[in-house]
Amino acid sequence: STKPRIVVVGAGYAGMMTTKRLTQQLQPQEADIVLVNKHNYHYQTTWLHEVAAGTIDPNRARIMISDVIDTKRVQMVYDTVTELQPQNERVLLENGELSYDYLVVSLGFETATFGIPGIAENAWKIENIESSKAIYHHIESQFIKYASGETEDDTALNILIGGSGFTGIEFLAEVVEKVPELCSKYDIHQSKVRIINVEAAPSILPGFDEELIEYAEKNLSDRGVEFRIGTKIQECTPDSFIVGDDNEEIKAGTVVWTGGVQANPVVGHSGFELTKGKVNARDDLRAPNYDNVFMIGDTSWVWDHENDKPFPVNAQSAIQEADTCAANLQALLQGKETNNFVFDNKGTVASLGKGDAIGTILDDYKLFGKKARLMKNVIDNRYLFLVGGPKLILKKGKVRFF
Ligand code: FAD
Ligand code: NAD
Repeated sequence: STKPRIVVVGAGYAGMMTTKRLTQQLQPQEADIVLVNKHNYHYQTTWLHEVAAGTIDPNRARIMISDVIDTKRVQMVYDTVTELQPQNERVLLENGELSYDYLVVSLGFETATFGIPGIAENAWKIENIESSKAIYHHIESQFIKYASGETEDDTALNILIGGSGFTGIEFLAEVVEKVPELCSKYDIHQSKVRIINVEAAPSILPGFDEELIEYAEKNLSDRGVEFRIGTKIQECTPDSFIVGDDNEEIKAGTVVWTGGVQANPVVGHSGFELTKGKVNARDDLRAPNYDNVFMIGDTSWVWDHENDKPFPVNAQSAIQEADTCAANLQALLQGKETNNFVFDNKGTVASLGKGDAIGTILDDYKLFGKKARLMKNVIDNRYLFLVGGPKLILKKGKVRFF
């Protein structure tokens, strides 16, 4: 066809919503739309800590792309991107290649290791459905080993989590809820299991509201979590972190690292310049140097000129960027000016298990407990509604309908 071709790589929040918006806003004769993704399903990255702790059925966190994207309108390519070649306007895949007129890079994140020895090889990471499922299987296998007498080492049951950003804290809370169930299933006394969190900063959730930090820390400590704050992880072995200036070893059968994220490695390998692990996108979300490439979601920083720092990078901003990205693609197709992205921060809510949460909304209004958890469900369901309408909320939503 002679129509311009838009290729979207990565069907996370950013790529799915951009594709959805393009199908809603463009006439079929205006452009061909191609969506490339590793799998034929999209997953809820924001629920991966639940998959990793075994507190949600992994299938509930997956959505078949063909259930929510009109595949008559969008050509789906289920393949893995190996390299982007913006100078040749090509995308290389494991099983082929694609050319494009416009490219949207929405390949998401990988867990950053900051070059800490042993993290890449030895630590478990909450990166995608597969890696998260593997964490839960590993935790359960440690319980099985201990219960069967294959090991008598109590530290096999320890669950050690490095980093207490939102991912680390949300995961900790799920683990706290899962452990009693595993203990009763394998007839192990709960006192045998230690859940330990190591954080380099002077508090958990560095930079978040102090009162809510205190609430979260007390809540999790009361439920048995041991916090080692102000303690830097220096090294990771298959069954421990080496921490602090005195190189203390903390042993555990399960060692999970949630120390931070950076752009999908394909982005850097393809020659895009990285600053603190991500590309500095232009104000209208295009990549530097390439007028027909957009860099959105966890692959990029977008500058907040008002506050002289980057906008937050999370699912909320990825979904909002998708709106601007789709509108700007339409503008380019029609020879119009693009618009700059402005983030409308609706707040941050983090879960502390199935019945509790903490958050700030409407600038400085604080929420905790059941109210915050309800708000978290509303946020989760709003995304399901945006991407798949009311049917998807009924199928996968976080509120039970009676
Ligand atoms: P992703 O969601 O990472 O999607 C990337 C997509 O690209 C995936 O579908 C993947 O399969 C695909 N892909 C990757 N590599 C390739 C390849 N080589 N070829 C083809 N396809 C590929 N943010 C919030 O705002 N609120 C929250 O409550 C929240 N909770 C979170 C909880 C956890 C446990 C984690 C880890 C993150 C959370 N975040 C939250 C952050 C949020 O999930 C990310 O900012 C968001 O997922 C970024 O969206 P994305 O579309 O850029 O990338
Ligand atoms: P993060 O960067 O927010 O947190 C990483 C934590 O690890 C930090 O507290 C850091 O001090 C600590 N750390 C780093 N190196 C360390 C070391 N050597 N030793 C000990 N501690 C170390 O990363 P994240 O939690 O994975 O979050 C990634 C992104 O996803 C963030 O933008 C976050 O806001 C977002 N997210 C949001 C939610 C939510 O809104 N509910 C949930 C999860 C993630």
